Amino acid sequence: MSPSLVQGARGQRGLLRQIREVMADGSSAQARLDRVVEIIARSMIAEVCSIYLRRTSEELELFATEGLNREAVHNTRLRLSEGLVGEVARSGQPLNLNDAPSHPSFAYRPETGEDPYNSFLGVPLLRGGRTIGVLVVQNMAMRTYGEDEVEDLQIIAMVLAEMVAGDLVSDDELKDIEIAPQRPERLKGSSFADGIAIGTVILHEVPVTPDHLLSDDAIAEEARLLTAIGDLRDQIDQMFEGQHGLAGPTFDVLETYRMFAHDRGWTRNLVEAVRSGLTAEAAVERVRNEQRAKLNNARDAYMRERLHDLEDLGNRLLRVLAGRNTVAREIPDNAILVARDLGPADLLEYDRKKLKGILLEEGSAANHAAIVARALQIPCVGRLERLRDKVNQGDQVVVDGETGEAYLRPRPDILGAAVARMDMRAARRAEFEKLKDVDAVTRDGHRVALLMNAGLEFDLEIMHETGAEGIGLFRTEFQFMVSEDLPRLKRQTELYERVMDAAGDKPVIFRTLDLGGDKILPYMETEREENPALGWRAIRMGLDRPALLRMQVRALLTAAKGRELRIMFPMVASVDEFRQARELVDIECQWARRRGRPLPQVLRVGVMIECPSLLFHLDALLPMVDFASVGTNDLTQYLFAADRTNPRMSDRYDVLSPPMLRALSTIQKAAEDSGTPVSVCGEIAGKPLEAFVLIALGFNRLSMPPAGIGQVKRMILSLDREQASKAIRKLMGSSYGSLRSEVLALARKLNVNL
Ligand code: PEP
Ligand code: MG
Repeated sequence: MSPSLVQGARGQRGLLRQIREVMADGSSAQARLDRVVEIIARSMIAEVCSIYLRRTSEELELFATEGLNREAVHNTRLRLSEGLVGEVARSGQPLNLNDAPSHPSFAYRPETGEDPYNSFLGVPLLRGGRTIGVLVVQNMAMRTYGEDEVEDLQIIAMVLAEMVAGDLVSDDELKDIEIAPQRPERLKGSSFADGIAIGTVILHEVPVTPDHLLSDDAIAEEARLLTAIGDLRDQIDQMFEGQHGLAGPTFDVLETYRMFAHDRGWTRNLVEAVRSGLTAEAAVERVRNEQRAKLNNARDAYMRERLHDLEDLGNRLLRVLAGRNTVAREIPDNAILVARDLGPADLLEYDRKKLKGILLEEGSAANHAAIVARALQIPCVGRLERLRDKVNQGDQVVVDGETGEAYLRPRPDILGAAVARMDMRAARRAEFEKLKDVDAVTRDGHRVALLMNAGLEFDLEIMHETGAEGIGLFRTEFQFMVSEDLPRLKRQTELYERVMDAAGDKPVIFRTLDLGGDKILPYMETEREENPALGWRAIRMGLDRPALLRMQVRALLTAAKGRELRIMFPMVASVDEFRQARELVDIECQWARRRGRPLPQVLRVGVMIECPSLLFHLDALLPMVDFASVGTNDLTQYLFAADRTNPRMSDRYDVLSPPMLRALSTIQKAAEDSGTPVSVCGEIAGKPLEAFVLIALGFNRLSMPPAGIGQVKRMILSLDREQASKAIRKLMGSSYGSLRSEVLALARKLNVNL
């Protein structure tokens, strides 16, 4: 092993102190940088030491050098990823070479006079995980720098980065150094919750910029760090035992936390950083910076996930060091929350009135944050790659939940367009507001019941605002998905009771748990499945684990307190499944009766039609059920064999197509013939063009996301159903794969308000 360039921690502390003194000496930025490279070169016994900084033009410019030609300073510029220096900047990783000129990325710049130097060690200047420059040492001898030397240079780079970003950046000479992203940027992700918002970025994972980088007493600092690590380990153990109110981490993540928190490598890196003269906070920041840089480059999603967890752990340690164990956060009005992902209760920590939008680096439309965001009507866009690397706390951003985009530091024209669209949406809302108490009746006198899909308590406030006639689909699994642990009988009963109380005389259809598939509970052990959408989910799980289903039915019966109750089963694929599920309800009713508990005045038990198999057994199914509801989201998925969670599939097949319309028509006719009330509760019910077709096919009950009600009602008021019906039936005989343009042309011809 080679000796440390700075001869151990004490030597390095001395060096860091010298750098600090130079940086604080009040001379010009250039003079200070010149002195710093000289000091580093001397202490590290390097023939060359150079600092490259990143310009706003994205180029890396040689800013100071000891050993290379002085004329090259401010003249040598490299693109990111050009040359060895560019490679270090791009990867965010050190590059350690004994024979630099033979490296494939080597870019020879004659003006620098670097010919005689063979060995090269470059480390990134990182700030908040971003590369703001590169620090290089070079020697003539062909040698590989030791691990200690690499670490030493990284610590120096960290101190230097903070100083450049802190003290020096105000200097005129450094004014267009890119310390933080500044340019406008547009990121494309996926929409998790509709709506548009403009606001100020609040980072969920608070970046703790170390106030004091260098400690005065390394021994005391080490003790402080070790105490904090001990506290952190205790905290994780408590989370495991479920005693802690902290929300979020799943079992897997906790396992990873625990593994890392007890990992000797992690602790050693932190301790070494402290021994070299850094404060505990700076040590965490340093280790975290390295991880972030690695993370941005890891190809393997699993690895990236683990590194993310490690970064979160660093955040927790910083909080422990700061004596903050919880994050009751003050946020500005118009806050846009930026996070990697959010756990079940994370979102609820923020003031709802001030939180105007959410941007996530990851997540999916089915996860907690997205569900809560939709219920709270907060626009949310997710799957924005490297988002946190591209925004700064306090940046202005536009969240476009209509298109699934985010505009960072938008230009005035983008901002203007966003404001105009927000105004338009507000105007439409005002228009729909006026229709709130108007019945949805077609021009030829057919009444359509418009209901709302819901799943959380917040939804009920909206019900009264939209004028929905009731809740056509209450997704009971949402309570489970936004909860930290399994909601048992009491909590379920309380929620259902509050929902029924809030709905008053309006009907509510409670759908039993539809878990599995893309709706996974962190706290419930399930096996990983090859094909979750086709796997052990919804009623299949309920029938195999009757205790869970019975608990839910019991909660519903108790909550009804003798009132009318509607229960519906999801994902039924065979009549036997419905029969068995209904039997469980009967058993629960008998149980309640034996105990003298009040039974619902009227109990209706219905089925969701989502599996195509039922289409061929409607004659047996419909007489058994009190009502049916078509779940077109899943019916489309299974009819076309196209995963609804796969973005590549989302626009591939059209519901407005002969196969789907024939399937829907078959269901509607069979229901009508057997006198079974039927509704449609998939997302299409809330889209005016699709709803136009559903009504033409004869459906007269639609349940939809609340935002759809106003626009669908407006459409209905302009519609002549008989005319539409005839024309749609004709179109269904078509040989086209999609009828969208024909349907659109028809709606226009019939003067339907879309
Ligand atoms: C559906 O599948 O259409 C439906 C309404 O249920 P979910 O979207 O909850 O699966
Ligand atoms: Mg479904």
